[in-house]
Amino acid sequence: MSFTLHGAGVGGGIAIGHAHLISSARLEVAHYAIAPEDLELEVMRFSAAVDKVAAELQSLRRSVPADAPAELGAFLNLHLMILDDATLSHVPRALIRSLRCNAEWALVQQMDYLVAQFAKIEDPYLRERKADVVQVVERVLKAMQEQPGRAGAAPAQVERLIVVAHDLSPADMMLFKQHQYAGFVTDLGGVTSHTAILARSLDIPAIVGAHTARQMVHEGELVIVDGVHGVLIVAPDELVLKEYQERQRELEQRRQRLKRIRSTPATTRDGTAVDLHANIELPQDIEQVRESGATGVGLFRSEFLFLNRDDLPSEDEQFEAYRDVAQAMHGMPVTIRTLDLGADKTVNGAARGGPNPAMGLRAIRLCLAEPQMFLAQLRAILRASHYGKIRLLIPMLAHAHEIEQALAMIAQAKQFLDEQNLPYDRGIQVGGMIEVPAAALALGVFVRKLDFLSIGTNDLIQYTLAIDRTDDSVSHLYNPLHPAVLHLIAHTIKTGNRMQVPVAVCGEMAGDVALTRLLLGFGLRQFSMHPANLLAIKQQVLKSDLGDLARLANRILRADDPEKAKRLLDKLNA
Ligand code: PEP
Ligand code: MG
Repeated sequence: MSFTLHGAGVGGGIAIGHAHLISSARLEVAHYAIAPEDLELEVMRFSAAVDKVAAELQSLRRSVPADAPAELGAFLNLHLMILDDATLSHVPRALIRSLRCNAEWALVQQMDYLVAQFAKIEDPYLRERKADVVQVVERVLKAMQEQPGRAGAAPAQVERLIVVAHDLSPADMMLFKQHQYAGFVTDLGGVTSHTAILARSLDIPAIVGAHTARQMVHEGELVIVDGVHGVLIVAPDELVLKEYQERQRELEQRRQRLKRIRSTPATTRDGTAVDLHANIELPQDIEQVRESGATGVGLFRSEFLFLNRDDLPSEDEQFEAYRDVAQAMHGMPVTIRTLDLGADKTVNGAARGGPNPAMGLRAIRLCLAEPQMFLAQLRAILRASHYGKIRLLIPMLAHAHEIEQALAMIAQAKQFLDEQNLPYDRGIQVGGMIEVPAAALALGVFVRKLDFLSIGTNDLIQYTLAIDRTDDSVSHLYNPLHPAVLHLIAHTIKTGNRMQVPVAVCGEMAGDVALTRLLLGFGLRQFSMHPANLLAIKQQVLKSDLGDLARLANRILRADDPEKAKRLLDKLNA
């Protein structure tokens, strides 16, 4: 029977395909049958992987230094106990034999069962141990990958599949960059969560916050993902299917038409030039940046180089990544944001940053607490600055002393390169993100000490309105038109313009055509967004006349309720 679920649309567009239910990209495994005569071999493959992981964990436990925190040893003991437990090491063997399936599939089935049992436990400490079960399973899966079974990991005809998951982390989404899925649906997640941002960066239709999709949709069912309106239609009837196929064609035609303005300079009708830059996560995104006609990279979220791996990238590895981007942009500006780890982006094996990670040791706070890691990144960025036009951007600044400390560390990194006679751009510009309300309200020190500012509207909205951007239960409160948000943004742009310190917006607001004129009216001349949005924003810039925009934008600023602001915005966009 056909039914519809609602969530928040991200990524735009419409996808039609068959549902593929998964737990997590890292745990996504192939499912295939094993011939009766091969079953014992498959059981042995599983046992060998369990033995290998046990040996790894024991060796790690032996190498823990005597002065290491006691938790480290306890953590390894716990993982060894989980691995040794019959529910994880024996039951999958029975499942391989009874279901005649591959070892990975048997293990993940058993993990899903165990995780569901843990979720029912009342004691919060014990409940959280489900994360340890998942980590142990990940280790065993990895060990099995080294001894692959018969089939490849990717399901057939991936390009027609729609991933349906309860939750996906940003690290999971990064793994999807390698697959060509047609769409994504998750039960959890806010519209500006990093998971949603990455779905947008994959440029395929997606819905977050669909609440019960993972539970209600069946594997293989035909579904329509309307990423424009956030609607998921399950088992559509013939008529609905035809209508959506037609809409899909129209959207595609519109996309193709937009390509015509790729090389047109982004200038308003009255002749004001506007910089349209792109946001990237990895060096390989540059191809898309070039196709979009962006005139620079306004935000390179460098922390994505650190996800989905067991070690930290070395200074040399980082240097090569930054240099490749700088060279590929042929002298156009490349703004590299220093690590914004913490909150919803953590490196493998790291614990979540405190009880409230978005307000915890995140971004510059974490970097200042881990000076060796920060210095290695700064040296890598500075070395790469010799090969193009790189700018340094520091996230989540709130205090004057954080700016001073960050600048001191940059000076220290430069001194190191001087001592080694390594070349770098001595005039490299250093900017700060304005994404904490305190920064927007105390701009003086920012404009005095920094070369440019970039407004991170995703976090600015999160922190101003006190809504966790990853929590879909409060995503209805996410509102860029809230007067407090607009005041902070307009004030930052106007102050920057007055003090001649360039200001950009690099949060999701920059890629929303409904807000382009408003931001132009506030005086913004530099936007940075995901490349997939860039041509639509350029079209809006080309159609806009600055003449009356400032007056109307100021009226919106004075509107004290968002409904009125919305009406005035519609007038501005008419
Ligand atoms: C922002 O906060 O608006 C921003 C651009 O950074 P991120 O989304 O990576 O936190
Ligand atoms: Mg941010």
